[in-house]
Amino acid sequence: MKHKSGFVNIIGNPNVGKSTLMNALVGEKLSIITNKVQTTRHRILGILNDPDFQIVFSDTPGVIKPAYELQKNMMSFVRSAFEDADVLVYMIEIGEKGLKDENIFIRIKELTIPVLLLINKIDLVAQEIVNKEIDRWANILPEAEIFVVSALNNFNIVKVKNRLVELLPVSSPYFDKQAITDKSERFFVEEIIREKILIHYKKEIPYSVQVQVEEFINEEDITKIRATIFVMRESQKGIIIGHKGLGLKRIGSEARRDIEKMLGNKVFLETPVKVKKNWRDNNNQLKKFGYS
Ligand code: GDP
Ligand code: MG
Repeated sequence: MKHKSGFVNIIGNPNVGKSTLMNALVGEKLSIITNKVQTTRHRILGILNDPDFQIVFSDTPGVIKPAYELQKNMMSFVRSAFEDADVLVYMIEIGEKGLKDENIFIRIKELTIPVLLLINKIDLVAQEIVNKEIDRWANILPEAEIFVVSALNNFNIVKVKNRLVELLPVSSPYFDKQAITDKSERFFVEEIIREKILIHYKKEIPYSVQVQVEEFINEEDITKIRATIFVMRESQKGIIIGHKGLGLKRIGSEARRDIEKMLGNKVFLETPVKVKKNWRDNNNQLKKFGYS
């Protein structure tokens, strides 16, 4: 059998389960997952290696109408996912109406590459409803092959994977066969800390935070990391730190545990909080944070 390889890009509305799907397919927790929209801000590659194939998945931010510069950059990651795809995976959740941005839907319809439409979260409803959804989507997007899945429960995920391998072109691998992602350990440290903030804080806080690793020193039996948590306003700094510093302490210790698991080493983690006014709308700052 000739080696197959290609890019499978996953797009869809916020919160439908795109990151859960990629993690299930790759078998590693690469993308952070929360019940909040806009958890994923970058295009993150997840690589599935087998002696006979290499599938390069892209997890992308959910499709939204951008309200500030950060979100505009997030949507440019979504647009780029159309440009190099060999197969597009369009994920929807049971009961949803369609994409928040009509233009992206039109682009899906115009694609000449194969499109798999994944109807996710079928664990939440009865079979008759699933059948109705299949009929409804077959009308909306007749070009697509439909799969019903539960990314959370790993239901039908192997079926999707096998179909993807069939659809991949014959090609040598694009990445080292040991690689599981294109992103660095530093990036995942930042994401793990941001995940804890998304989980524990409400309202505007998750959307006002950026984490940046400033120091990452590998010593023999410990890794020393300083990661700064940037917020947009002084008042947000107080909220993150919390009463007697307990809020920040919780973020630090939960993140440290996950980072230790990822690195397989003991970690000393410092997380100072700093104000960077309106970083979300400052293009220079966004560039420094890696959003371009
Ligand atoms: P994304 O924004 O599209 O990347 O969605 P996430 O992967 O972050 O998931 C959003 C929420 O949906 C999380 O709370 C997931 O646990 C949940 N979720 C994902 N897949 C399923 C599923 O198959 N069934 C159910 N019930 N929940 C799911
Ligand atoms: Mg996501």
